[in-house]
Amino acid sequence: MPQEQFDVIIVGCGPAGSSCAQFLARGGAKVLMIDKAKFPRDKTCGDAISGKSSSILRELDLEKEIESRPHAKIFGVTLSSPNGSIVEIPIAKRKGQQGYGYCCRRMVFDNLMFEAAKKSASVVQQFQVTELIMEENKVVGVKGTDLANNKKKEFHAKVVVGADGALSIVAKKLGVDEVDPNHYVSATRVYYKNVKGVSDKIEIHFVEDIMPGYFWIFPLENGYANVGVGMLFSQIKKRSISLKDATFDIIKNNQRFKERFKDAQIAEDIRAWTLPLGSKHRKSAFAGAVLIGDAASLIDPFSGEGVGNALTSGKIAAETILEAIAANDFSEAFLQRYEDRLRDTLDKELQTSYKLQRLGTNRFLLNTIIGKAAKKEEVRNVIAHTLTEETPLKDLVSPISLLKMLLA
Ligand SMILES: Cc1cc2nc3c(=O)[nH]c(=O)nc-3n(C[C@H](O)[C@H](O)[C@H](O)COP(=O)(O)OP(=O)(O)OC[C@H]3O[C@@H](n4cnc5c(N)ncnc54)[C@H](O)[C@@H]3O)c2cc1C
Repeated sequence: MPQEQFDVIIVGCGPAGSSCAQFLARGGAKVLMIDKAKFPRDKTCGDAISGKSSSILRELDLEKEIESRPHAKIFGVTLSSPNGSIVEIPIAKRKGQQGYGYCCRRMVFDNLMFEAAKKSASVVQQFQVTELIMEENKVVGVKGTDLANNKKKEFHAKVVVGADGALSIVAKKLGVDEVDPNHYVSATRVYYKNVKGVSDKIEIHFVEDIMPGYFWIFPLENGYANVGVGMLFSQIKKRSISLKDATFDIIKNNQRFKERFKDAQIAEDIRAWTLPLGSKHRKSAFAGAVLIGDAASLIDPFSGEGVGNALTSGKIAAETILEAIAANDFSEAFLQRYEDRLRDTLDKELQTSYKLQRLGTNRFLLNTIIGKAAKKEEVRNVIAHTLTEETPLKDLVSPISLLKMLLA
């Protein structure tokens, strides 16, 4: 029996895949979305939805959807240094109004994105993609297993989008899944209830024992908080750290936090997962295929934020694929436009964040940056832009100019 032919198959229905599907549908493409999970599904994450994400959500007319589901509205960032200096950075005003972001459990957020996407796409859930179908060195479809009945099946399309996250099978089959421990982070997440002092700001704390890396407390709805620790793979390996143990050690024993957690209760077991950082390029355009979101390794190397870049890459990929459909050209040369646009949009910001991440490996500098940021608006602005703004930071901040700013 002939297989049904789609314009586009999207493997993975997380934020990247669901954003791409919605922008493709606006251009009239015939889309199949595939996921091995059944939605609503959880994704280990800090649950912070930044300003950059908000601008795409507004474009997709989904901001009111978040507002109608459980979430916390975020009005700023609290940063603390290893020596305990604290700086509070409000999210900048937007068109004269106080700016804000959200913390929304991924169980909730990803489901609202998925529900919006499936209105105009075909969907197959609980289907694990295991292979790419190739014809003359071009991707023309996917093969996999229906997890409900263990049956093998294949689907065909003009373009396959790999939106299947940090351990992407699409990236693996295209030969670009190399893990460089200097550009990968591992992070934990544990939900708590009744942590003292949780406000309307996300908290990022640089803590001595997990340097370079950070401990976070992000507010959620109804007195819940998302708590975790993130650290570069290379450091975890070098120092044989158990990240889960390190998380509970900070919560139970660190002088700065133990009082706040004294009467708090764990609401869900701790989990850990991987963050592929955008500080190292991953090839993302191929004949008949593109990679987006974590599959394209796009997470901000300083903040660990990946949802904004997942949504952005989904949008840029959709724009290029619609052009490819119009031109009936699915060659690597044509789809390279996607990767070029992606780099134009994200590279400067990712490079700046990488430089901030490198500065953050030095205790002295981190203490200085946060100490100075508490007093200097210029320094606060650079950090604020990286952590909270909707638009990418266009002017590259070199370590030298940042140092000058700090020492002035
Ligand atoms: C602990 C932690 C904390 C984080 N905190 C934040 C934060 O606070 N804010 C932020 O913006 N980012 C954060 N991130 C990063 C963020 O979670 C990711 O960047 C984001 O989820 C990327 O979205 P995605 O759509 O690319 O991939 P995912 O959300 O991972 O979605 C991939 C989808 O693909 C499906 N899939 C995978 N393999 C297959 C297969 N073989 N066949 C079919 N389907 C498949 C999966 O089931 C999944 O639904 C954090 C990450 C971690 C690990």
